[in-house]
Amino acid sequence: MSETTELAFKAQELDAGDELAGVRSRFVLDDVVYLDGNSLGALPAAVPGRVDDVVRRQWGELRIRSWDESGWWTAPERIGDRIAPLVGAAAGQIVAGDSTSVNVFKALVGAVRLARLGGSVRDEIVVDATTFPTDGYMAESAARMTGCTLRPVTPAQVPGVLGDRTAAVLLNHVDYRTGRLHDLPGLTAAVHAAGAIAVWDLCHSAGALPVGLDEHGVDLAVGCTYKYLNGGPGSPAYLYVRREIQHRFDSPLPGWNSHAEPFGMRPDYEPASGALRGRVGTPDILSMLALEAALEVWDGVSIDAVRVKSLALTDFFLECVAEYVPPGRVETLTPVAHEERGSQVALRCSPTLGSARAGGTPIAGEVMKRLIERGVVGDFRRPDVLRFGFTPLYVGFADVERAAGVLGETLRGDLAGY
Ligand SMILES: *Cc1c(COP(=O)(O)O)cnc(C)c1O
Repeated sequence: MSETTELAFKAQELDAGDELAGVRSRFVLDDVVYLDGNSLGALPAAVPGRVDDVVRRQWGELRIRSWDESGWWTAPERIGDRIAPLVGAAAGQIVAGDSTSVNVFKALVGAVRLARLGGSVRDEIVVDATTFPTDGYMAESAARMTGCTLRPVTPAQVPGVLGDRTAAVLLNHVDYRTGRLHDLPGLTAAVHAAGAIAVWDLCHSAGALPVGLDEHGVDLAVGCTYKYLNGGPGSPAYLYVRREIQHRFDSPLPGWNSHAEPFGMRPDYEPASGALRGRVGTPDILSMLALEAALEVWDGVSIDAVRVKSLALTDFFLECVAEYVPPGRVETLTPVAHEERGSQVALRCSPTLGSARAGGTPIAGEVMKRLIERGVVGDFRRPDVLRFGFTPLYVGFADVERAAGVLGETLRGDLAGY
């Protein structure tokens, strides 16, 4: 038996034993191998009908009555409670709303204010230097506003720079580029040992692996819902504020939705209790309720099962790539060790097009273009990274084998000379 048929056979066996295989039918999909769910999750089948109902009936017929009768007003905390079990949080600690960028700002400024309660002079914000750029931009502004110095370091360097000046530390659970999973329990404990506040960005882990926010004592966390949570383009993000610190959380964006008595229309601000403090203004109901429908795909799905399948998918992808791609053409940036791997595989593909001339570009962009033309959708991150995200709810093992096969053929074809 050739390697090709052997791996195709193995894919069939793995698919046959996959307890999550049936969940795929909860999504609208075609025969494209969709490995970009870490950028924009696929459409859950329940969403179009729900959005239609929200627009035509709730808005079109009930109009203003829907704030109460259709549960619009309480949607942020209700949806927060639906996200909670996926990130290991008990109810009452998460609100959905705003973008991740805005929530990073709320969380970080709130974290510095918490750290300074009792009059301590903590004046440093430590941030992951390899972070998704918006987190870094927000951290820089939060530092400027609070009179802090920003210390960008790699996550590995974090324990070494913590001290009694550290106010807050902003970290990513999974690196968006390399797919590296960081040690949330260990780093959170180190931040706490220094007396500082830990803020985690869960954009690339929520919905892909267990997070354990409550278990590991995380103070504040943010994340988006349009990646592994499939909420749709620009769907609301969320903010987690640990129960024990909620009464002290002082949001830098105290909008009327976070007021203890929003309809009192009082000139003085008095914060609501609980997770509601994380709200700002009127929620974007259409996206919010599309997200709520999208979250129904998680009914009966355990995040532990998702993690088991995610690791099996990425293991199998690496195995197929090693078999199908000519040696030396790609190199994985994603750690091979399970405890350091998220749910994506980033492959560096750096040979240069037009290398004879100065200014040649790496072939990775061209390679991804060809994969997409052939129905394998991942994404390209400048300058030379091919990124493949594996959403266990709808990606199967045959998809993985096909993707690696197409990648191998692409790198053996006319691009082989580079
Ligand atoms: C996707 C992502 C974001 C996105 O932020 P938006 O405000 O939704 O545009 C932020 N941070 C990280 C780490 C991400 O992966």
